[in-house]
Amino acid sequence: MSKAATRDKGSLPAKPAGRGLSDQLARLGIARDADLVLHLPLRYEDHTRLTPLASLSPGLSVQAEGEIVNTDIQYRPRRQLVCLMADPSRRDAQLVLRFFTFYPSQQKTLAPGHRVRVFGDVREGHMGLEMVHPQFKVVTDDTPLPDRLTPVYPTTAGLGQETLRKLVARTVASDPALTAETLPEWLIARRKFWKFGDAVRFLHTPPPRLNALTQHALDARTHPAWTRLKFDELLAQQLSLKAHRQARSLRRAPVLTGTGALTRKLVERVPFKLTRAQEHVWREIAHDLKRASPMQRLLQGDVGSGKTIVAALAALQAIESGKQVAFMAPTEILAEQHYRKLASWLEGLGVRIAWLSGSLPAKDRKSAVAALASGDAHFAIGTHALFQEGVEVPKLGLAIIDEQHRFGVAQRLALRGKGLAEAHQLMMSATPIPRTLAMTFYADLDVSVLDELPPGRTPVATRLVSQKRRREIVAWVGKACGEGRQVYWVCPLIEESEKLELQTAVALHTELTASLGEAARVGLLHGRMKPADKAATMDAFVKGDIDVLVATTVIEVGVDVPNASIMVIEHAERFGLSQLHQLRGRVGRGAAESTCVLLFEEPVGELAKARLKVIFENNDGFEIARQDLLIRGPGEFLGARQSGLPLLRFADLERDVALIEQARDAADELLQKEPTAARAHMMRWLGGKTDFITA
Ligand code: ADP
Ligand code: MG
Repeated sequence: MSKAATRDKGSLPAKPAGRGLSDQLARLGIARDADLVLHLPLRYEDHTRLTPLASLSPGLSVQAEGEIVNTDIQYRPRRQLVCLMADPSRRDAQLVLRFFTFYPSQQKTLAPGHRVRVFGDVREGHMGLEMVHPQFKVVTDDTPLPDRLTPVYPTTAGLGQETLRKLVARTVASDPALTAETLPEWLIARRKFWKFGDAVRFLHTPPPRLNALTQHALDARTHPAWTRLKFDELLAQQLSLKAHRQARSLRRAPVLTGTGALTRKLVERVPFKLTRAQEHVWREIAHDLKRASPMQRLLQGDVGSGKTIVAALAALQAIESGKQVAFMAPTEILAEQHYRKLASWLEGLGVRIAWLSGSLPAKDRKSAVAALASGDAHFAIGTHALFQEGVEVPKLGLAIIDEQHRFGVAQRLALRGKGLAEAHQLMMSATPIPRTLAMTFYADLDVSVLDELPPGRTPVATRLVSQKRRREIVAWVGKACGEGRQVYWVCPLIEESEKLELQTAVALHTELTASLGEAARVGLLHGRMKPADKAATMDAFVKGDIDVLVATTVIEVGVDVPNASIMVIEHAERFGLSQLHQLRGRVGRGAAESTCVLLFEEPVGELAKARLKVIFENNDGFEIARQDLLIRGPGEFLGARQSGLPLLRFADLERDVALIEQARDAADELLQKEPTAARAHMMRWLGGKTDFITA
């Protein structure tokens, strides 16, 4: 049995309660009584009935009772406590209890003559049927059986099930307000929902012997009691999102009317005409910037759809309105490229740009920071170094975040706190947001979509090639370089070790330099290079002084070299779908016919095979993202895995789409008709916090 239960019987020195317990509860996200009520079981055990020892058979998870006839510590094959239990009315019906870790007190509790009740999995042992580490307690003839199923809760080290069970049961019963209804009668009636109190009481301690259908619904979390809890959770999320949106509309942001002085010039001097889609989203953004409440807009467009020029126009509207702009990219390479491109676009327009990245020499950083602080620099471009301590942008009017999905929800929320509250925000992403996420975690954003690629793009032909045919590919690449084509050769992804990835990159560079010989000039680009060297290499590639650029995934996002028309990806089976799509999007930008070669190592696993098939069959980023979601689930999209943030606890973004829609509609109606109920509901689920995700 669990240590806690033993402790309850007083056989272990009692640890001081209080701080220890509240820390343990905090680890479970439980801070208030209301949280305990919402701490729902993972599953149940049936302690309501006893199975006679004579009817036990291996594989059953059951409760049984008997008298201890013998207790011994055995030493072979390892130290263990072995007890033999028998049915007093049928001495031949026996069960062995085996404990590999135990306290001396347990040996006393399980002394011969004691009557004990055990719960556990029955298995075949060499001394007959046995249970290993069963739960147990000493009973008398009239110790009652519980009349409800026994909940098994998510718990944490040091907090035993029994303690948690008692705590939850006591809390649920303690104060009727904790289980009171927050939803108005009409909403409950319309959806035929269970009452909240009935639902939580049922879920904590359901009655035994449910019929098969009900039992299945309970396990699958489709039971009406679960539906009610999931709905409530989603409703709280929707209410918090709306609260956010409303709070935003009340905040003041600078009105960036613009003069056209800079934006018009930029449109005139770029060597292309804006697509209709670009014109359209640019109008949406320009309109937002003129409003006195902060914009929070996501600009969504496939790889190569031309998001940068739209961002540049937005930036210029802010700058010509007398404000400063911060433009942030997730990698140094990408930030650097934006810096160069914007510097060339804006040359001679009198816009002063400050470049900030993590690896900037102290002296340069200091002058960039000073220029921003004094307002001399209008435009800050860089990595997340832009938002680090000591960097002040006193007249910040607009913050632009490129490839925002790379930053994850946690960073996105952290950014909100970084003095951005009063600025307009433009986020950009090539990864479309799955619909359920657009309705939930991203519902506080406005979205603009670039649904058209600039003209003159040549579709990329994708080839799946086994490593066995590597030599052919090398020869083909050599020949293509002879015809003036340029090539990205992407190193295998080694997630476990950056060092190993680096070594592989260097080795690949050496190999290709040797095998391509006179046919091509081979360059190397990886994340550990000094920024100046990176920039020089990129520059040489852009100028055509390098034919084949061996690169780690640093080039994954946003890099733009139109003459490069071949992409080779080593160990493509290791990459995620959106990474493959992003990488492939680096080619097909010029007039030349482009090819992406996906080299794979056999044998390829099932998931990897599914990914390669999707990337081979699809060119459209939206379709690829949809398939990606089917393979991985939306949690991944949020970057939750990395950040460890609790997302929705009960509702499932894939399975509960219908409930999400109902919750969204209900949130609107509730706020309008019953704002007090809405507040009470949010209180219960969020305890007054408004950030659902960080709640
Ligand atoms: P992404 O949306 O992936 O960030 P970019 O902004 O990097 O795309 O644009 C990709 C390429 O297309 C760049 O070379 C850019 O200069 C070019 N481009 C952008 N808009 C147009 C357009 N309307 N017509 C032609 N080329 C364009
Ligand atoms: Mg881009």
